[in-house]
Amino acid sequence: MFFDILTLFPSMFTGAFSDSIIKRALERKLISIDIHDIRDYSDDLKHKTVDDYPYGGNAGMLIRPQPLAGAIKDAKERLKEFKPLVIYLSPQGELLNQQLVKSLLDEKALILLCGRYKGIDQRVCDKYVDREISIGDYVLSGGEIPAMVMVDAITRLIPGVLGNRDSAENDSHFNGLLSCPQYTRPEVFEQMSVPEVLVSGHHAKILQWQKEQSIEMTRKRRPDLWEKYKEIHEV
Ligand code: SAM
Repeated sequence: MFFDILTLFPSMFTGAFSDSIIKRALERKLISIDIHDIRDYSDDLKHKTVDDYPYGGNAGMLIRPQPLAGAIKDAKERLKEFKPLVIYLSPQGELLNQQLVKSLLDEKALILLCGRYKGIDQRVCDKYVDREISIGDYVLSGGEIPAMVMVDAITRLIPGVLGNRDSAENDSHFNGLLSCPQYTRPEVFEQMSVPEVLVSGHHAKILQWQKEQSIEMTRKRRPDLWEKYKEIHEV
């Protein structure tokens, strides 16, 4: 999967992509990430300005359409053989969930457009953006953290990225349920014991317990997910 990230703050990504699972995925060439500074596309060669006042007199600034369009066109050209999807990270977009993450695995290349200030000129969305995605019903200062969230969530599901040890299969949301409670050593910690079944060595019983716990957790914490699960699995 190719990720092209268009941002006014490229340095924000340095730490996020230089450790752990993303770092390994990059090293194994299972993903490729290119970060591009929208400012480099500004037609204001002297000051490299990228923002301007909004029509209508609202407070704050917007990113001008010219540098955004330039950055997107360039990214599309770079990735043209992969037919990239242009995604604008936006609090007005469809909500990101595991199902949406899985569906994006069908794409070969994503161009992730990070807004700033009060957002971007609507004409850029209308002409160049294929999808708008929000990571939650709250407003962040920029699309950089949402872009990191998307790269991470997608990368985890790319075959070969997670070894058996960290497999995504028993993670929350993989099959529509929350994960069951997990325990590690020691067997007794501050007078609290690990549930007996987990140290029984009885594989079938352990699986059964984990499934029941997973269902219980989902029913209690996320009745909305439980209702969906019941519908799909005809429980
Ligand atoms: N004025 C915009 C609104 O009310 O919808 C919010 C602009 S926000 C301060 C600046 C940028 O942060 C947005 O252009 C977007 O790229 C990003 N952003 C903020 N919240 C987000 C969210 N929940 N999901 C995805 N991107 C978000």
